Amino acid sequence: MAKAKLVTYTVVYVPPYPIRNVYAVGVVEDERGEKIPVRIEQKYAPHLRAGLEGEVVRRWTPFGEIDFFVPKVEEKPARKVALVTGASRGIGRATVLKLASIGYDIALNDLELTDEGKEAIKQIESMGRKAIFVKADVSKFEEVQDMVNRVIEELGRVDVLVNNAGINIDRLLVNMTPEQWQKVIDVDLTGVFNCTRAVLPHMIRQGGGRIINVSSMSALNGAIGQANYAAAKGGIISFTKVVAREYAKYNILCNAIAPGAVRTRMTLSMPPGLLRERVANIPLGRMAEPEEVAELIAFLAETTYITGQVISINAGEYV
Ligand code: NAD
Repeated sequence: MAKAKLVTYTVVYVPPYPIRNVYAVGVVEDERGEKIPVRIEQKYAPHLRAGLEGEVVRRWTPFGEIDFFVPKVEEKPARKVALVTGASRGIGRATVLKLASIGYDIALNDLELTDEGKEAIKQIESMGRKAIFVKADVSKFEEVQDMVNRVIEELGRVDVLVNNAGINIDRLLVNMTPEQWQKVIDVDLTGVFNCTRAVLPHMIRQGGGRIINVSSMSALNGAIGQANYAAAKGGIISFTKVVAREYAKYNILCNAIAPGAVRTRMTLSMPPGLLRERVANIPLGRMAEPEEVAELIAFLAETTYITGQVISINAGEYV
């Protein structure tokens, strides 16, 4: 290990197979004035400037031994920011509270700021974190772009996007109108595209990010009465895999979760008889609390190696 200063650098994009990578190369000067060509990991890209101090470390790579420059910088941003859609109640609300408790500033999205949402913002502020409400209908791309621009202006970055907003309009397929089909696809699937598409350029520029998409057990088990919802939630799983593979090279990890029955307004609006029958079939004998799902989302917000996965949280209702 030798102390050195960065003289010059450039960021390199290598898209074709099998390399598919983004990194920086540069020249550093060591304490004896010797110039050394180096590679620099992509995560340091936002910090690079001539004169930056650090160390040269020789590392083994699949392409042989290479000198890496490891700059002396704070690797984690001082503040982390999460944007959670549909966050004024239910799973989204539990998620913003959990993420704030582990150090995130929060952009809380929904169609309206409800009393429950206002209360969540107060709680987040009492934890010493920032919280803003960003109104947008996730199914409308322009509204979503304005929302993301506001988050960047007011909170500076987006480290985590939780695509949580969702609706259901359950009918047997023979009774489902084209409007009922389209509405659920627009919010539950196109909404995920809109938010991810709007946030990705910022995550690429800032050197990484995490995207967690809230799918559903319905995508896996063919839930009766949910052709529109299950199709949208299944689409989310395929979408997640593509995003994971396209953007891993930018340190952007994307995963989906597939909850079973969670005790929120969405589930409690089921006819009581059907709900009782459903809970009776859950091996653990109860619905999940929104906080239990929020724990999983927070875990995926902090992961450094899981991507492209769909993680079930259903107490064994579907295995
Ligand atoms: P919920 O109805 O309590 O919350 C959904 C939130 O999304 C609401 O605050 C609503 O206003 C918001 N929303 C709806 N349409 C929106 C839009 N167009 N733009 C922005 N916000 C919008 O339901 P929940 O159970 O907390 O659901 C959260 C997510 O979890 C949904 O994607 C849902 O499909 C999924 N999910 C829920 C369960 C469950 O059992 N509750 C199971 C599996 C998956």
